[in-house]
This record gives sequence, C-alpha cells and structure tokens, in this order.
Amino acid sequence: MHQFEQISTLQTQVKKWRQQNKTIAFVPTMGNLHLGHLSLLEKAKQLADKVIVSIFVNPLQFDDKADLNAYPRTLDADMTLLLDHDCDVVFTPSANVMYPNGMDVHTTISVPNMDDKLCGLNRPGHFDGVATVVAKFLNIVQADWAIFGEKDYQQLSLINRMATELNLSTQIVSGPTLREDNGLAMSSRNQYLTSEQRSHAAHLYRILQDVKARIELSVDSFDLIQQQAMSALTELGFVAEYLDIRRTEDLDRADRQDKSLVILVAARLGKARLIDNITCDLA
Ligand code: AMP
Repeated sequence: MHQFEQISTLQTQVKKWRQQNKTIAFVPTMGNLHLGHLSLLEKAKQLADKVIVSIFVNPLQFDDKADLNAYPRTLDADMTLLLDHDCDVVFTPSANVMYPNGMDVHTTISVPNMDDKLCGLNRPGHFDGVATVVAKFLNIVQADWAIFGEKDYQQLSLINRMATELNLSTQIVSGPTLREDNGLAMSSRNQYLTSEQRSHAAHLYRILQDVKARIELSVDSFDLIQQQAMSALTELGFVAEYLDIRRTEDLDRADRQDKSLVILVAARLGKARLIDNITCDLA
C-alpha cells in the first residue's frame, strides 16, 4: 500500500495505472475509520482494479474551530485498517497541499437549493466546503467511480447534483449506512458519547423507523408526524435540530402527494451531534 501526501506523486501513480488500463475507485474520508468507511472500500474494490482512499479533515467545511480541533485523528490505526483491507493507495494531503493560497481566497463551489437547508441551515458554509473539497479531489484523482455513504444523505444529494451539473467524469456511487447492533448509525462522532449515551442514541433510528411506519400506515399530515417525533426526541433528552420528511429528488418539503421520501434527523446528545436518515418509498 502506498501513502502519498503530494498531489503530484498521487497523480504519477494514477497515470501508471492508466497506462496499464486499470480502473480506479476513490473513497474520500476524514479518517478515524470504522466499519462504515470499510464497507465503502469493499464496494470500491468490487467496482475497480485499484482503490484510493483519502484521509483529510477538511477545515473548509467546519464552521466551528473547536469542532475542527476536536475531530478524532487516528492516522496510524487507519493505516493499519486500510492495509488489512487491501487498499492500494492512501492519499493524506495537508491543508497546505489542498489550499496552497489559503482558504479565505480559495475558489469555492456552491450547490444552490441544496446547501441552505437541513444541515446547511445552522452550519453556514459547511456544504460549500464539502462541495469544494470533493470537486478538488475528483479533479485530482480522476477516478472512474467515487463512493459516498447514504449516512450523509444531504451530502450525497449535493455531490450528485454537483457532479451532474459540472459534468464531472467520475461516476458517483452510494453505499448503505452501516449500523451498530442497536441500530445506531456508525460515525466517527459516536466517540463523543459515553457508553450509556451510545445505547440511548439508538432511539434516534427507532424514531425514524416509527415515523416511516406512520407515513405508511396512517393518514396523519407530515407536519403532525414531524412535530410529534420532535417532541419524542426532546422527551428522550435529545436536543433536536430538525426531523423532516423530504422528497428524495431535491430534499424539498414533502407532502402526501410525494412518493419517494427520505426522513432526515439531526440531534445532539451530550457532546455529539448525530445525523441519520431513512428512505420511504410509497410507489
Ligand atoms: P467521514 O469520514 O465521516 O467524512 O465519511 C466518509 C464517507 O464515509 C462519507 O461518504 C460518509 O457518508 C461515509 N460514512 C460515514 N459513516 C458511514 C456509515 N455508518 N455507513 C456507511 N458509510 C458511512
């Protein structure tokens, strides 16, 4: 397994593979790898001859410096996991390599109507940071496929829109959310939970499942279902940011006419901000 910190050395390797007619899949991450990340790596391996994983805690997508500084960085353990799972290349650029002119004056990409709702509402600039770093990575790596998790549903929707509208040549592929046995979506941020909170956090997915069942089985309005789910979260000790029923196609508000739905939630428990979602197909 190679590790590259510079764009030029990574691209020399990619060029070599291209000369050998190898296909390439790319999995961008912020490190602190868990089984969810590794499931994307496995998917990448099924698709392509060679797999590149990037580890980069992207400062441009953090609106809160304390959150950026606290983000778990576990490069040695990550490298061991990637080696064990037959990753071909790990790309670990520094912020200077990614933003050599500084972040304040860097060209940024915005995806309108996607970046200002749900998780974008309380995190100004977050999705511009995501779109910008992903566009840069896709341009640098020039992979055939890039794999993203459905766990970050809004991020995935935004990246799909960006890739289509900017005519990027890499095909975007998604992988399902990996969960703990109790249903809690795996996340690097789960480390901020105590073991008691980790069991309690499973209620988040249970509530999403309850909402889905109510959409399918009742005639209640989506507004009522959302309000009651938010109250249930509050009663359980979560500080809920939103729990919304949206259309999968554009993440706009959904009503009973819509058939392809996604229920998204963001809530704080203790020190952790947790997000999760579940899709609901009424067709
Ligand atoms: P992160 O390191 O959190 O930025 O995530 C890197 C990639 O892994 C993103 O595409 C995430 O959506 C994906 N991911 C994170 N958690 C999970 C999970 N539990 N299951 C599947 N994919 C995940």
